[in-house]
Amino acid sequence: MKRPLRELKGVGEKTEKLFQKVNIWDTEDLLHYYPRTYDTYEEPCEISQIREGETAAVQGVVTAAVYVNKVRNLQIVTVTVGDSSGKLPIVWYNMPYLRSTLKKGSVFVFRGKVIRKNGRLQMDHPEIFTCGAYEEVLHSMQPVYALTAGLTNKMVTKLVHQVLEQYPLQGEFLPQELREQYRLADANFALSAIHFPPDMQRLLEARKRLVFDEFLLFILAVQLLKEKTEEAGNEYPMKPDWCTEEMIENLPYRLTNAQLNVWHEIERDLCSHSLMSRLVQGDVGSGKTILAFLAMILTVKNGYQAALMVPTEVLARQHYQAFVRLLEDNGMDDCQPVLLTGSCTAKEKREIYEKITSGEASVIIGTHALIQEKVVYHDLGLVITDEQHRFGVKQREALTTRGKSPHVLVMSATPIPRTLAIILYGDLDISVIDELPARRLPIKNCVVGTSYRPKAYSFIEKQVRQGRQVYVICPMVEESEGLDAENVIDYTQKLKEVLPSDISVAYLHGKMKPREKNEIMERFSEGEIQILVSTTVVEVGVNVPNATVMMVENAERFGLAQLHQLRGRVGRGEYQSYCIFIQGNEEQETSKRLEILNKSNDGFYIAGEDLKLRGPGDLFGIRQSGAMEFQIADIYNDADILKSASEAAGGILALDPDLSLEQHAALKERLTEYMKADLQNLSL
Ligand code: ADP
Ligand code: MG
Repeated sequence: MKRPLRELKGVGEKTEKLFQKVNIWDTEDLLHYYPRTYDTYEEPCEISQIREGETAAVQGVVTAAVYVNKVRNLQIVTVTVGDSSGKLPIVWYNMPYLRSTLKKGSVFVFRGKVIRKNGRLQMDHPEIFTCGAYEEVLHSMQPVYALTAGLTNKMVTKLVHQVLEQYPLQGEFLPQELREQYRLADANFALSAIHFPPDMQRLLEARKRLVFDEFLLFILAVQLLKEKTEEAGNEYPMKPDWCTEEMIENLPYRLTNAQLNVWHEIERDLCSHSLMSRLVQGDVGSGKTILAFLAMILTVKNGYQAALMVPTEVLARQHYQAFVRLLEDNGMDDCQPVLLTGSCTAKEKREIYEKITSGEASVIIGTHALIQEKVVYHDLGLVITDEQHRFGVKQREALTTRGKSPHVLVMSATPIPRTLAIILYGDLDISVIDELPARRLPIKNCVVGTSYRPKAYSFIEKQVRQGRQVYVICPMVEESEGLDAENVIDYTQKLKEVLPSDISVAYLHGKMKPREKNEIMERFSEGEIQILVSTTVVEVGVNVPNATVMMVENAERFGLAQLHQLRGRVGRGEYQSYCIFIQGNEEQETSKRLEILNKSNDGFYIAGEDLKLRGPGDLFGIRQSGAMEFQIADIYNDADILKSASEAAGGILALDPDLSLEQHAALKERLTEYMKADLQNLSL
């Protein structure tokens, strides 16, 4: 069933590239590219009833010949349509060939966004249907996909259609009995109905099945991994070392009791008879990094290597520098750290690999480059992953299946209730840092509309004059047609214009080259840049304690968990910090959600309240977070399905621990594929 996209009708090199941009490489990826939401085609309404801002369908007659106007390199097609209630101008861009379709006197249904231009309502770039064609889609739910520049919803929809029609689907892989027990829809039905749901009821059934599958495969993988690690004894036995105690004494702050407790748990694990597999959960700013560093130092003191893996290069670099500083402060010269990331040159990489293989490098800090095939460790005793929600179970497996099993420590700020954490991290013991450092002042929050901006700017200027630094977050990198949200590039320009010229403003986004990103981040850490306008690339783990203001534009476009992470970038030092959420629309729904953040700085509370607000039926609200590696499942919203899947996995493994029974053959095949697929993604 897995075929290259190029085999499909209408897919050439250019289209293929577009799809690759959203990580669709073959027909299977395409089928698993689930819609972001759905659009329901309503009965056309009268022209007099349409409102500004809505998407409407009107059926009307073309009242006059099409008029094409050239403005710079844009061809604007305008036509006026009418019905018994009134007239409406409609506009398209760069589609001059419409002239031959929209003959005077012909009747069509037009469906598109209603905007106000020069005081008058008009419809912008609508879809055009013959009356018959509109009848066919009427009341149906049409998929809306996440897109990238150049890739249209129509292209994705058509291609998914083609694949569903042309290729046989993979088929059912769950035993009939199990499906009946948990009332699960058929696998093939689910896959086709998630794209083209006949109605809401069946959409819910399809979604439930896909969510269940995702959880089930994940839990089975975790359980199999757990067996492996449980069998392993402590192949890297350690002894406590006084130097960690001394370092703790030397820190510029006192560890909190929660940090100390967790550190002692880690130390005990490393020095026990069995392998450590531990998750450390702690809200943003609770001070997880120092525990990772201590564990690495203990490992090195015992003669082994330690690796710290993080999701972004920015974070890797920051951890590396902080670690080097810690070593210097403590006059430790018997620990040789290296930084390994995707943007190292081939030559640099070769040199680093050699140092790792020879054992000269004792601490390796980096992105997932550090678990690639080519890296051969001398004696890897400890692997730590920070901000684990970006790493999956397969990555954990990739590390543990190399020769002897190292100790594993996972650090996460995702606030997952304990009952769910036990399922999701079935192979790990769990520690919680449930206390923030004492001298920290709580962040002051405000949720405001865009009219507050001038005040915000003058506040920001004041903070900068006091020596502090500022983040401004925008949802987009650059201006994009049809999307009404702030973008990093124009916003930076705007800020430069409104603020005095001696204040240094720079931007950061995911499309920049790694080297440029590093440079900007470095200059921000050093205080050379005072205001950093950024996309959410700073969301994960970045630590610049001198930054005290976090301003988020279009806050309504982010999930609450994500906003909480973003806010976690400030309030990390001794200064009072502030978070300004700018709401780009005035909708009550968003006001309510943002009010939760306004009221609390506690990640667990926020996740819980968000869930209550959204309710179990709210499928298409902004997802909590990209937590774990789930595509459609949401660990919070789908907690009930998660529990069922966990129960089902338990039942399957109790009956058939290695999935060797006939009735589990298809499931086993699917699981093997699941494990393999993600490992491939890793090496990209
Ligand atoms: P996170 O848990 O979000 O990864 P970090 O480990 O990055 O948090 O710590 C955030 C900041 O708090 C860092 O600047 C760190 O040096 C500081 N920090 C860590 N522990 C303490 C403590 N016990 N007292 C004061 N500051 C601390
Ligand atoms: Mg961190």
